[in-house]
Amino acid sequence: MEKTEGQPKGVKKKSSKLLTSSIEVTPQCVQVVVRCRPMDDKEIARNCTRVVEMFPSRGAVEIRNPRDDPSKNSVKVFSFDSVYDWTSTQQEIYEETVRPLVISVLDGFNGTIFAYGQTGTGKTYTMEGSKADVDNRGVIPRSFDQIFTHIGRSQNIQYLVRASYLEIYQEEIRDLLSPDQSLRFELKEKPDTGIFVKDLSSAVCKNANEIQQLMKTGNQNRTIGATNMNEHSSRSHAIFIITIEMGDSYGIRVGRLNLVDLAGSERQSKTGASGERLKEASKINLSLSALGNVISALVDGKTSHIPYRDSKLTRLLQDSLGGNSKTVMIANIGPASYNYDETLTTLRYANRAKNIKNKPKINEDPKDALLRQYQEEIERLKLQLAQKSGMTQQKKPTTDGEEAPGEEAAAASTAEQEQPNDEVEAQEPQMTEEEKTRIAEQLKVEKQEAEELERKIKDLESKMLCGDKNIVDHTNEQQRALEQRAIEIAERKKREIEMQQKLEEEELSALNVRETYATLQQEVDVKSRKLRKYYSKLQVLKQDLDDVTGEYNRDRRDLEQTQHELMKELKLRYLIIDNFIPVEEKHKILSRVKFDEEEDCWMLKESSASTIETIRRPVSVPGLRRPTSEYARTALAMGKGPRFAGENILNLELDMPARTTLDYQSPVIAPTIQAVLEKALCDEGDIDVDASGASFKSRQRMQSARARPKSVVERKSPQMPPPVYPKTRGLVPK
Ligand code: ADP
Ligand code: MG
Repeated sequence: MEKTEGQPKGVKKKSSKLLTSSIEVTPQCVQVVVRCRPMDDKEIARNCTRVVEMFPSRGAVEIRNPRDDPSKNSVKVFSFDSVYDWTSTQQEIYEETVRPLVISVLDGFNGTIFAYGQTGTGKTYTMEGSKADVDNRGVIPRSFDQIFTHIGRSQNIQYLVRASYLEIYQEEIRDLLSPDQSLRFELKEKPDTGIFVKDLSSAVCKNANEIQQLMKTGNQNRTIGATNMNEHSSRSHAIFIITIEMGDSYGIRVGRLNLVDLAGSERQSKTGASGERLKEASKINLSLSALGNVISALVDGKTSHIPYRDSKLTRLLQDSLGGNSKTVMIANIGPASYNYDETLTTLRYANRAKNIKNKPKINEDPKDALLRQYQEEIERLKLQLAQKSGMTQQKKPTTDGEEAPGEEAAAASTAEQEQPNDEVEAQEPQMTEEEKTRIAEQLKVEKQEAEELERKIKDLESKMLCGDKNIVDHTNEQQRALEQRAIEIAERKKREIEMQQKLEEEELSALNVRETYATLQQEVDVKSRKLRKYYSKLQVLKQDLDDVTGEYNRDRRDLEQTQHELMKELKLRYLIIDNFIPVEEKHKILSRVKFDEEEDCWMLKESSASTIETIRRPVSVPGLRRPTSEYARTALAMGKGPRFAGENILNLELDMPARTTLDYQSPVIAPTIQAVLEKALCDEGDIDVDASGASFKSRQRMQSARARPKSVVERKSPQMPPPVYPKTRGLVPK
């Protein structure tokens, strides 16, 4: 890519103050447009009636309730920034609604386009369009074209375009450009750059084809793991993010374009779901209902708390709703009568979004600009290259009188630099062949390095795009003029719609102007006309109130049902905890858990003093044969006996288990003692003791018997009958 000389230096000049001060942050409402798709073949075959009437000239949509009596002619009217009926083309929408927004992004503003609506109403068609037919390409591919055409025509501005593609499904973020689709990504916040998806990949794109290819890859990845693609895409949000950094002599600016294909807005039935299914059902549209809540809170005006943190979508797109962004919402609806309820809900939703006020401003001097990093890297590499070629010049062996390469570098060398050259020449006679080849090899390596550096510089420069100012392209000029005219037409159309809407508003209030009536009859006529108008307005409002109350009640019933199911689940869990988990374990776990606000769930604490205590194990200590606990070592030092000796356990005496009655064997009693005992048990009158000779041994036995556990001794108590078993094995008198 061509690059203007010395531009990076110019870019670094901080003269952007002028630009900053000249830009006022004026609040700007979210632009809401409604698009109604044509009846599809099935609807035509079923002879469905159309309940939607569109009035593009005055930006109005009328919807008729098919359940109402047609003679009553009660319709609901909504007005928007612009409306597109079933005959509208992709180009029309792009030129009038999207092109001005992308122009702003190319000036350094943030821009967001949401496609909202029930599944099957044309969100994906509007955003991506048909791949086969060029005329039916949607907003995303057209914006790619606009961006790169704009860059191609620009002068003295360097651009860097990056793209990311992500999906939010059941409150999990997936990077659609990552090779590993099993990874889930987290949202993080930095004080200077705001909310971002941590580790989300972004690819630098040099032309519209490259970025188109990225979208294709992302869409292919979106289907991976989805059992039912239609269901998956209708329940997930796809966000394509294009970041455009631009650097000119005033500094660096960055514009970010979010292209959002939202999940289907239809009501998800949660009835009858429980457990995992319920959890899934409540998560499906969490982001979408959070989006609704954010919109309500923003337009309510009474609450200062905007619940951005309630979902991943609202957190990620916080700037697009009430923040620093220009935002367009394209509400898609279906025309047929069976879609009446959903269409009405979409129109109401869109009607509310009209009142969101944003404060867009140009993003100047971004802290994390990749463009600046690239520019600095190129400068550094160029310097390195210059130094290298200078060094090569010095080392070049000039024995064969060959002209040294890199004349520019040689020309730049000063008189002092010639000095070392002379030295080389002076040393030349002593230079051996070996040294020459060594230097030649060194030169070769350095040449390779220099080539590598040049390649790197080229690579970096090719990423930064710049229009070619030398080409005077007449077709380009003509196209430019055409586009300018298209923008002007779009502007005019917008103004016409606005004026039409104002006119209608004033029509009613004009009736209030005090009039003088010629006759009493005339006054009655005028007043009855006024009354009829107000009455019909009242009826419409009453109907609206009924509808909204009905909707609210349905939502409340749904929530109550969910709450009931959740309570049931909770009670079951408490029951399990109370009956199956030991109390001390419960306390242990309770002391370790904490609620993670970001993840919206309970987490185990990473580390706490108590857990460290419980999981700490003895470590090897030099000098000891095996890991020994602190306590054991202290005990050992204090001479607490063999238990902590740290000896090989095999050398220690074994601890025998406590004896049981099963092991019991009555002691072998010497016949003499037996005789004595029998004697002792006899009546006192019969005692005749003769303890001569055997007295010592028998006393010993008696003592050992006494030393045994009491129960054992008691068994041989005199009152007990003599043991039957074991039988005496021949009492041999000693
Ligand atoms: P969604 O993404 O809202 O679920 P799709 O974009 O998949 O809806 O549209 C559903 C069908 O309707 C597709 O076959 C699409 O081609 C068709 N369709 C939607 N909008 C239009 C339109 N404006 N003109 C022609 N066909 C349309
Ligand atoms: Mg879709």
